[in-house]
Amino acid sequence: VIDIVWLREDLRVADNRLLHFDARPDQLLCVYVLDERWLAPVFGGEPHARIGPARLNFLWQSLIALRGELLQLGSDLLVRVGDPAEVVLELATRHQARAVRVADHGGADERAQTERVRCGLPPDTELIELENGYLFDGDQLPFACEELPGSFSAFRRQVEAVAEVEQSHKAAVSLPPWPDAPRGFPSLTSVCPLSAQWQPDERQGALCEGGEVAGRERLYDYLWRHMGGHSYKKTRDGLLGERFSTRLSAWLAQGCLSARQVFDQVRAWEKDYGATESSYWIKFELMWRDYFWRVAQHERTRMYGARELPPVNEAFKRWRDGRTGVPFIDAAMRELALTGWMPNRARQNVASFLVKDLGVDWRLGAAWFEHCLIDYDVASNWGNWRYIAGVGRDPRPDRYFNVLKQGCHYDPKGLYVAHWLPALKTLSPGVGRHQPWRIDPARFAAPVVNPSAWERWLVDPESATATLDEMEEA
Ligand code: FAD
Repeated sequence: VIDIVWLREDLRVADNRLLHFDARPDQLLCVYVLDERWLAPVFGGEPHARIGPARLNFLWQSLIALRGELLQLGSDLLVRVGDPAEVVLELATRHQARAVRVADHGGADERAQTERVRCGLPPDTELIELENGYLFDGDQLPFACEELPGSFSAFRRQVEAVAEVEQSHKAAVSLPPWPDAPRGFPSLTSVCPLSAQWQPDERQGALCEGGEVAGRERLYDYLWRHMGGHSYKKTRDGLLGERFSTRLSAWLAQGCLSARQVFDQVRAWEKDYGATESSYWIKFELMWRDYFWRVAQHERTRMYGARELPPVNEAFKRWRDGRTGVPFIDAAMRELALTGWMPNRARQNVASFLVKDLGVDWRLGAAWFEHCLIDYDVASNWGNWRYIAGVGRDPRPDRYFNVLKQGCHYDPKGLYVAHWLPALKTLSPGVGRHQPWRIDPARFAAPVVNPSAWERWLVDPESATATLDEMEEA
């Protein structure tokens, strides 16, 4: 008798509730199915797949690493490309599985797959659905999931009370060896030749390598070597380099690390060095993630029902390709395309610019992020896009970023923009690099949007906006 462990965004051995339970260890069959629809185009008429080469590469590294971990434990990982529900149902039937274990997921596609499996399983096979990726479990929350607070502030205030009492998740335990686990699956590289297409750009600040061990190393480095618990609050809006924020998002998104592990490590650091504003803010950001995950869980059918996107127009293409003439936007979009990552400050600006300045539907922007990001997760991506677009929960029309002011403020020497747009290196370091059309109009065209509205901040410093967090604080 076996249990099928259907892994999705849970690519770790430690603190993985799908693996840690009291079945006989040789009774587990771990499977990951790369949804073949992710390889289909994200926009009609355009070649880009829903999963772009950067994330595919990270995902593949993570799967190879997980398989290595499982092999050491005497088990293995079966990896397939196909229709996840079909593959899982076929395995469950063939092996007459006792149960299929899978994590609860807020995405519409994942939910639909889970339901298909639930309905298609043989009568004696149980579907066990667990919460595996949240920071706080549903039963720890001081409200019912159906009564999720409408705003992040209200959510945070309530879950912080829980965090203060105790973060009582089950401690991560090591798995015993699995002597008789199934073997002989095809090697991963033979299953996914596509990941070989990815060539990371040498200009990026940090290379993220997939897998649980690499994720834990980064967490250790950031907290104990770089002492992020002392610096995060001040540096988290940084744009260049690898230490300004944790850079854990890709590992969290694939589940190579759990949010609980990161939270626990921050608390361990606080025990050694004392709680700081910075250590608090790392936990604060993890709560944003949890909030968006809960929103997705709560609103899944309404939020993620239709995948039809409006047609791609010229404004969107300029934004996507980093050709708007606004250096801050173009630099960030080039970084995204070349590395699969973008700093949070830049994400907020490019999202606001697309929606509020170019008047493009936010779902196109979210879809492009889905293609590019190595840390894409549907809940965080859609949650942040909707938040900035001012739609959905907690809608507000005033989440507008003055991209010129933001660029000058967060990149006063123009180092970030010149890093990704080398033509700007010919201009002296300074805020002029953010307005090249003024300094050298013969070489630099004016932006696609008339910049005079942004320039008003020069006389009215109150007119530009703050960060998501500053808005939340206010
Ligand atoms: P840190 O600042 O070090 O934060 C630590 C962790 O907290 C992050 O790794 C992440 O898991 C979580 N976190 C921080 N900020 C947020 C936030 N605003 N929302 C949700 N979680 C957060 N993050 C994703 O993980 N996947 C996405 O697909 C994604 N799409 C985004 C789209 C837009 C338009 C915007 C504005 C933000 C998006 N973010 C997304 C949130 C945020 O930009 C990234 O999590 C962050 O930049 C990752 O860098 P870090 O790991 O160094 O974060």
